[in-house]
Amino acid sequence: MNDFIYKNNELFCENARIADIALEVGTPFYLYSEATLKRHFNSFNESSKVMDSIVCYSVKANSNLSILRLLFNMGWGADVVSGGELFRAIKAGVDTGKVVYSGVGKTEAEIEYALKSDILMFNVESIPELYAIDKVASSMNKKARISFRINPNVDPKTHPYISTGLKKSKFGIGIKQAVPAYESAAKLKNVLPVGLDCHIGSQLTEISPFNDAVEIIKDLVFRLIKDGFDIKYLDLGGGLGITYEDEMPPHPSTYMNSIKNILKDYRGTVIFEPGRVIAGNAGVFVTKILYNKDSGSKKFVIVDGAMNDLIRPALYDAYHEIIPAIKREGTKIRADVVGPVCESGDFLGKDRTLPHVEEGDLLAVLSAGAYGFSMSSNYNSRPRVAEVIVSGNNFRLIRKREEYHDLIKGESINV
Ligand SMILES: *Cc1c(COP(=O)(O)O)cnc(C)c1O
Repeated sequence: MNDFIYKNNELFCENARIADIALEVGTPFYLYSEATLKRHFNSFNESSKVMDSIVCYSVKANSNLSILRLLFNMGWGADVVSGGELFRAIKAGVDTGKVVYSGVGKTEAEIEYALKSDILMFNVESIPELYAIDKVASSMNKKARISFRINPNVDPKTHPYISTGLKKSKFGIGIKQAVPAYESAAKLKNVLPVGLDCHIGSQLTEISPFNDAVEIIKDLVFRLIKDGFDIKYLDLGGGLGITYEDEMPPHPSTYMNSIKNILKDYRGTVIFEPGRVIAGNAGVFVTKILYNKDSGSKKFVIVDGAMNDLIRPALYDAYHEIIPAIKREGTKIRADVVGPVCESGDFLGKDRTLPHVEEGDLLAVLSAGAYGFSMSSNYNSRPRVAEVIVSGNNFRLIRKREEYHDLIKGESINV
């Protein structure tokens, strides 16, 4: 099933012609399919029902308010990693009783905000953070529900920048320090250990690292329960991968059934934090060709979108399929698709075979719905792009394109 399809050689998102949307909103822009989002939601949600579970969508994957609202309306909570993400989630109407808060560097102000919001739990990533949470909670006369993020030391076999569960990683607490961590928490008055958390990485395309992690974590959970800790929540994080090129990630049902088997004796609630698997293939980045440049030894397709808009190729050497919005006859070319930013790392695709394309044509960079807009910046003083969502043959602007005056908002000439 795909909602980004050609009809008579023209690319559509559901029943909306992408060229028509570009005429209205200009380029570049992110384009999401509501039907795809809902399908991904349903597939993950139905699969998760084989267990007593809560799904907390990982806000950092795509944090547009409309997308958050869509997912929260259908019953999901949120996994946040900053005060700003909690703010967004609340603005979008999240049930804060379904919010978990991860991240290695929570500040006192962020902890206070989360406590005021009465979130479900903090996923604590170090002992000093545990003390900070206890201190803030004490000053507010509250008891903070916590879990420790435990590092099971399994290799997720993904890109090192998105691998988070190895011993050398900055995330979580080593498996050997886990029991002492819970014992430390038990001595504090203003924290209540209610869960255990792990998240081993992102874009996992095999089931085995998940299974290995859950096996390790399960033994620890039962040990803690035996020691008298009421581990009501087992948070297994996110990480399920998607197809960018030719990856064959497991279906959510395969993933869930395998977890269910491993956890058959666990009586609590399992939490999932999917991000990419929900939003990734529900969005594309649409950009316009400015110039077809032939440097003699190499061809470049220069587009109006750049690394500041979609940084994954530059940051992770990530592959995104690039297709034209109009399929033209004529000779194919082999070229790098590059943006206007003054960095050699500014490319969307390298050495790509493209059909014949002309200046002014639109290209769609696929699988850009997750870690696309949310990682974008204003580098080179480029206004951040618009975001649009399609439903059937309607499209709606869900973030307007920034203008030049947005670039200097908050700045002053004070010299
Ligand atoms: C990024 C992140 C996720 C989501 O990861 P995906 O690979 O997008 O599913 C979930 N939990 C935590 C703690 C994260 O940091």
